Amino acid sequence: MTKVGYREGIIYDFNKTHEPIRKIPAGSTVTIQTYDCFQNQLQSEQTEVTAIDWNKINPATGPLYIEGAEPGDILKVKIEKIDIGDQGVMVVGPELGVMGHALSKMESKILPIRDGHVHFNDLQIPVNKMIGVIGVAPEGEGVNCGTPGAHGGNMDNKMVTEGATLYFPVFAEGALFALGDLHAAMGDGEVSVSGVEVEGEVTVTLDVIKGTSLRHPMLENDEAFTQIVSAPTLDEAAKTAAVEMIERIAEKSGMPVSEVTMLMSAVGQSEICQIVDPLMTARFVVPKWLLEKLDVSFFE
Ligand code: CA
Ligand code: ZN
Repeated sequence: MTKVGYREGIIYDFNKTHEPIRKIPAGSTVTIQTYDCFQNQLQSEQTEVTAIDWNKINPATGPLYIEGAEPGDILKVKIEKIDIGDQGVMVVGPELGVMGHALSKMESKILPIRDGHVHFNDLQIPVNKMIGVIGVAPEGEGVNCGTPGAHGGNMDNKMVTEGATLYFPVFAEGALFALGDLHAAMGDGEVSVSGVEVEGEVTVTLDVIKGTSLRHPMLENDEAFTQIVSAPTLDEAAKTAAVEMIERIAEKSGMPVSEVTMLMSAVGQSEICQIVDPLMTARFVVPKWLLEKLDVSFFE
């Protein structure tokens, strides 16, 4: 199996001008090693959070060039496995997250991870592994790895976890896929601006879908299909996610938009991914049982 270490190459922005660190055939399964979002600079309580190099934030390992992927295609990314390190770190500080106005200094906390739990003081938080940053090169100029968008990036969506499959619009030759910013746990919103940040390894299978395209990423798991949208406000993100999903279902099912809208209002879920990054991210979630009843399949 192909293994890619973070020493082979990391990026701080998703950008179609980056040289790929590897070229791999479509259909490949790859294990990708990742730093945590601080590039492993905060390894002990003794490291002052003010001492870290803020230019080395949110590194994503890659980019990988997937042979055959061309602009207008879809990159399909099945998340086979996420392995995380044995300690995480969280950070809060002025102007960060929803409490930034009330915090006067940067603080960090090292959190041991063992027995399926993150240990926070005397509390045990169930591990809920997920990938914060994952995506492809965007259409125009590069996008910093801290910012989400139509290309994916820092979506901080807790549904991006083992067993999920992501679908990204391809904007550049080879797609130029990269990922990083693993979290041992994170709640919807990511209100402090950090999840339980952790290094690790992610195994993905990368495939190219031709003949159909996307405007924003989608995610599928055992129960649901979801549309993910990032926008300047959560209102816009949530609305666009629902609109994209309704239009797609109407197109695939042949049902009138009016009826699909009623159905989605009855069973679809508007949910928050994160509210603390430079753009906000929302998802619209539709159960698979309904899509099956409507005989709708998105990518076959
Ligand atoms: Ca993140
Ligand atoms: Zn993170």
